[in-house]
Formats: sequence, C-alpha cells, structure tokens
Amino acid sequence: MWYENIIGQEQAIEHFQRVFKNNRLNHAYIFQGGEGVGKKEFSIYLSQAILCDQGFGLGCGKCSSCLRVKNQTHPDFILLEPLEQRKTISIEQIRSLISRLSRRIHQGRKRLVIINPFDAVTDQGVNAFLKTLEEPPEDTVFILISSNPVAIRATILSRCQLIHFRALTKKEMKAFLLEETADLNLLNSAIALAAGNKEQALSFLRDQEMRKNISAIIDWFFQEENWNLEDRGNWIDAREKDNWNWEDYQVFWQIWSSMYRDRLLIELGSQSDQLNYPDLRGRYEAMKAKSILQLNRRIQEIQKAIGLLSVRPPRNPIVFAEAILMNWNGES
Ligand SMILES: [Zn+2]
Repeated sequence: MWYENIIGQEQAIEHFQRVFKNNRLNHAYIFQGGEGVGKKEFSIYLSQAILCDQGFGLGCGKCSSCLRVKNQTHPDFILLEPLEQRKTISIEQIRSLISRLSRRIHQGRKRLVIINPFDAVTDQGVNAFLKTLEEPPEDTVFILISSNPVAIRATILSRCQLIHFRALTKKEMKAFLLEETADLNLLNSAIALAAGNKEQALSFLRDQEMRKNISAIIDWFFQEENWNLEDRGNWIDAREKDNWNWEDYQVFWQIWSSMYRDRLLIELGSQSDQLNYPDLRGRYEAMKAKSILQLNRRIQEIQKAIGLLSVRPPRNPIVFAEAILMNWNGES
C-alpha cells in the first residue's frame, strides 16, 4: 500500500484513505508542516496511489506507473521545484507548467502537479498560477507544499484543502536514522539538534566535521566539572585555534543544553526513555551532584547564549563561552 513507508503522519494518511474509499479527490491541496517532516515524500507516495496501474488508491510501488512516478518520468506527474542553484520558482517555470497543463492527460485517470515549496514561487509566478487554480484543468490535482502557509495569499488558500503534517517524534526520528548510523551519541545529537526535521538530522549525520565535533562535545560535558580556571582558558583558546564560528558554538551549546536537561530530568525522577541521551544515564549519575536550581540556571544561561548567537549579524561567540565557562568555575 502507498502509505507503508511513510513515517508518522497518521492523520494525513487516514484523510486520504477516506478520500480513496469515497472517490472524492479534491483538485487542490496545501501540504503544510515544518521542514523535513516528509511532505514531499508523502506527495510522491500519494501520486503513486492515484496513478497506480493496479487500482485507484493502491500505490503498489512495483507497476510501471508507480515506478515512473518514483523516477519522475510519468507523463502525468509533474514535480515543480526551484532549478539547481536557485532558491525561487520563476515565472518562466510557472508559464511552462501552464502550457503543459493545456495539453491532454496521457494515461487517462488523473494528472498530479506538485509545487515544492510553493513558498518559493515568485509573486509574478503566483499571479500567473492563480488563474490556473481558479479554473483548474479537468482531472488535475495540485499539491502545494508549504512550511509557511501564513505567507500564502488568501485567494490561493481559499481554493485549497489544507492538510497538516506534524513534527516527527524522537522515536520516529530514531527508527529512521538508525539505518544511517549505529553510533547512539551521534544519533541522539542529530535528533536533539534537528527538532523533528529528518532531513536536517540526516545532514548532521553525514557531515564528517560535525561527527568529530559531537563526540568531543559530549566528552567535554563530563570533563568540565573538573576544569580549573586555566583549563577553561585553554579550552577557549583551543576553539579559537580550531576556528570555531558561531554555528559551531550553537551546536556545542545545544548539545550541552540537551545534556543538562537530561541531568535535570534525572533529578526530577524521569524514566530513561524521556532523556535525550538515555544511554548516557550511568555517566550522568556518576557526575558530582548538582541541585535542580543549579541545573536550571545552567540551562537558562545556555539558552540565553543560543538566543543571542542567532541574532544577525552574529556576535562574537567567544565572549559568551568565556562568560559562561569562567562563571561556572569552582561551582560545586
Ligand atoms: Zn502501482
């Protein structure tokens, strides 16, 4: 079945199961949800289900139509995305889409048009597209993918049915990422950093530099309690030598923040499956005791630094590292 390989998104799946059962496919949908939660994949599986040779709503994945959708060679399946090296979908791309839509459907049943993301279509492009959406060609289904539906004009929104995609849970991310790595520290870091975005988590996992940094960042967390003032100064100097920029520091603070949250959760009596790094529980528990108040304060200081580091233009991250790490010296 078409939905077998989709991670999460039960509501959207159930919605289209009903659509297939009642044979009531709309002519336009907006797939709305955060980045990297699988909206594009979903739209491809759904297209297979609609165009499958084995029957409407099946999406066997094996027939010629399903395979041609997958390979993007099906004549009735159009996936419109920004051209390589571009961030926007241009008016020319929209015009060529519209001219393609004036031709007849090749295989009879339906024609699918996916615009990914619709947020990338230029203003001119949206104007040109609006007419098509107002008077849609027969048997054509539009899927507009968006992570920011607020920015979509009311005239477009009102002509589409909104389908909501939720963020992936830690468990779903884990199941998905385990195919990529067996290194649990790395995997849990990618999940903590990516906040429900599996594409971002994947790119963390595939970044060699990141992989190297993450294991060091985790080790430093356990060493920090024994650092004296000189060690702290040396650590900061070494990061300067490594040319750490604000992005490196952001990753660093985010990982430490999720680790301090783990320590706080343990203090509050939480189960291991609630921790960001459940397999580090033993090492956390072997650390010097800290009160809930202390742990909370550290998390707040780190969060403040993360917030200030995201301000553009970026400030010097070393200043925050010095302020925080020096201040923690000798704190028991
Ligand atoms: Zn099929």
